Amino acid sequence: MKKLFILLWLAAGMCILAGAAETPAPDRAPAPAPLKYIFYFIGDGMGFEHLTMTRDTGKAVAATAALDALPWRGTARTNNVEGTTTDSAAAGTALACGFKTRNGRIAMLPDGTHVDSIAKLAKFQGRAVAIITSDALNGATPSAFYAHSDSRKKYDEIARWLPVCTFDYLAGSRFNAGDETRAEVEQALRDVDYTLVTTREELQQLGREALPVVATHKWENYAADISNPAEFPRLADYTGKAIELLADNPAGFLIVVEGARIDWGSHANDAVATIGEVREFNAAVTKALDFFYAHPTETLIVVTADHNTGAPQLDGPISPDLLKDRRTHQFYAKALQASPTAEEDIRRLLDELRQEVGEEAEKKALEQLIASGKKELPSAARITAFQQARRDREFGIHWTTRGHAPAPVPVMAIGPGAETFAGTYENTEIPQKISRLMGIISPEH
Ligand SMILES: [Zn+2]
Repeated sequence: MKKLFILLWLAAGMCILAGAAETPAPDRAPAPAPLKYIFYFIGDGMGFEHLTMTRDTGKAVAATAALDALPWRGTARTNNVEGTTTDSAAAGTALACGFKTRNGRIAMLPDGTHVDSIAKLAKFQGRAVAIITSDALNGATPSAFYAHSDSRKKYDEIARWLPVCTFDYLAGSRFNAGDETRAEVEQALRDVDYTLVTTREELQQLGREALPVVATHKWENYAADISNPAEFPRLADYTGKAIELLADNPAGFLIVVEGARIDWGSHANDAVATIGEVREFNAAVTKALDFFYAHPTETLIVVTADHNTGAPQLDGPISPDLLKDRRTHQFYAKALQASPTAEEDIRRLLDELRQEVGEEAEKKALEQLIASGKKELPSAARITAFQQARRDREFGIHWTTRGHAPAPVPVMAIGPGAETFAGTYENTEIPQKISRLMGIISPEH
């Protein structure tokens, strides 16, 4: 069955190439020999402005220094198969498998056909494969690389694909499933020889003999959160360890890294959380870039995003002073809910906000909050998000939606063949370009 999917995938790739026969695309130029080491970074929700607003928050060097060092630039369109704004499942499928599909689908076409990801094809080539995320391992984006489902919300079903994916290194926050399913999946992973670790210390001690590895952690915090313990595992830790464990594989590797919480911070319209996550993402790219400088003729790094979340507009350079407030909306919400005077605090905040919120959309949302009164205690997160919006406005950041936006996203690349990522194209072309450089689709086609 798997072969069928590969053939289908190859056939689709060739059809696309055949369609381009009259106007040769730059990526039809002879490709170099298949590259050994491939990094594929996906910033979830990361639009151009997310990079801009993060850049100036660095001190001696830009906070996006590694991303800025990638010389080849392109732009990818992200809409789903219906031509509407994508979610992370349809975009994940596009970026992992090279096919547009409907929102909610994980590596599955609208008619139910399974499509294979470049990670699966890389594995068939003998490469070592790592999937790393700051989300749960069965979140929509990472799932598109190893699972198939008609709904991203079928977390248990998706998690059950993990033990059969045969990938070498899986890292992220604890997978999202009921206790019973989690125990069942963990046992199934052990049964096929995965080493499971749950702390940063355990991860650091692992050697190659531990492979295959599943590294998870229990925190759902933002990287910027002031309350994070020292052992909070960073995306760069997971990425660095993957490089260390997989670099000796004779057929090379494909390392996929998702900066998932850029999207979360942007949904909450919280610039502190968002910028912290872009910085975290940049730190992970730094690890790849260090490896690139040691292996420049054999390594490709591609960075992109699945969609734009929050569509922020910026008045100008963002002062690093913004990050002095390391209290994200998540932190405030937890503190507010834990407070013995929670109800009083929320009413006071609502009063303050009612007086100063001027924008129509926010007014409406605020009225709904006020109307629901005390019942709204659990949605303290929403109230604190309004506080964040107030702070962000003071720093010249204006979020224009709490959802995803259809704006195209950046593509950045370095390495042999990286010039093929210049231009503007559909996001489905990104895995097709990568697969050509990996030698999966022959450059002669
Ligand atoms: Zn989102």
